[in-house]
Amino acid sequence: MRLFDTARGEVVDFAPGPTVTMYCCGITPYDSAHLGHAAVYVTFDVLQRRLRDLGHETRCVRNVTDVDDDILRKARELGVYYLDLAAEEMARFDSDMSAIGLLPVSSEPRATSAIPEILSLIGAALESNNAYESGGSVYFDVSSFPFFGRLSGLERSEMLRLAAEHGGHPEDPNKRDPLDFVLWQPSLEDEPAWESRWGPGRPGWHIECSALARRELGDTIDIHGGGRDLVFPHHECEVAQCESVTHEPFVRHWVHVGLVGLDGTKMSKSLGNLVFVADLLKEYEPMAVRLALLGHHYRGDWEWRQADAEAGAARLARWRAAPPGEGAAALAAVRRRLDDDLDTPGALADLDDLAGRDEPVAEAAALLGVAL
Ligand SMILES: [Zn+2]
Repeated sequence: MRLFDTARGEVVDFAPGPTVTMYCCGITPYDSAHLGHAAVYVTFDVLQRRLRDLGHETRCVRNVTDVDDDILRKARELGVYYLDLAAEEMARFDSDMSAIGLLPVSSEPRATSAIPEILSLIGAALESNNAYESGGSVYFDVSSFPFFGRLSGLERSEMLRLAAEHGGHPEDPNKRDPLDFVLWQPSLEDEPAWESRWGPGRPGWHIECSALARRELGDTIDIHGGGRDLVFPHHECEVAQCESVTHEPFVRHWVHVGLVGLDGTKMSKSLGNLVFVADLLKEYEPMAVRLALLGHHYRGDWEWRQADAEAGAARLARWRAAPPGEGAAALAAVRRRLDDDLDTPGALADLDDLAGRDEPVAEAAALLGVAL
């Protein structure tokens, strides 16, 4: 199989061992799943299906960020306990994702389950002089990690811009370098707090994924990824925290999924221009929605249009009209396309063509997670 690796910046051979460990950054459960989420998780789902089809065992972990600035703010606004909000949104997320055919992940650990591991990782970073305490918080010292910036390949000015955009507070006077990032911070009055040797507080954003990935999958994982907007700062910071403590490569292969836009801008909570999966499912069959997503290559950014869902529904009808049976040609075509950097648009075009020539396609569609 050939697969693009963000760190190397090119499509490379991906030839893992018998068991493939995967970690996909999950949601902060404070609002419904939108199409940007669905695009990420469907990509990891198709990748997992093809790896299993190739005979691998897959262990896919998808975390849940159940404590961070966003969920605490939303819980405050609604006047509810943050973990009640998390539980409600997680149930909705799971039901939306299973509707569009996602295989269950092997585990879905929550950030709040990893406080001991987070504390021990921060302790190790302090011990090895990769972190420092200042103003009641603990920060990672980016100057201590010579490879900071290697994953994203960004200039310092661009890193600063993105850190500011993603709540990294480069202006925080307690930092030695504006790019240093928080590992542990004191909680505000009405926020949850855990005891630590640096005082009661809560984890920074990036540390939970490092701690959970290590706990669930070990020091080195085969595939790690998520939406492309996580490359910097989130994944860059994860690499720094992990590798400075373990001295092992954290990730063998990075998979990042393009962003879904609407009306010319990125779909995002802060802009309020979200298309929710649950809303689409009121109008379209779940498999039509899945096909609409698979119609775009995972690496590119794209714009959602209602026509995508219409095209998905029409395609579903065409494939259903194909005769039942083995479908060896279709299966071979889909496998070939997926092994070429998950070329799902190519796979869909091949199945359209074969279905049009009265070849069976159901088995090949199932490899894409599309149940006819
Ligand atoms: Zn993460």
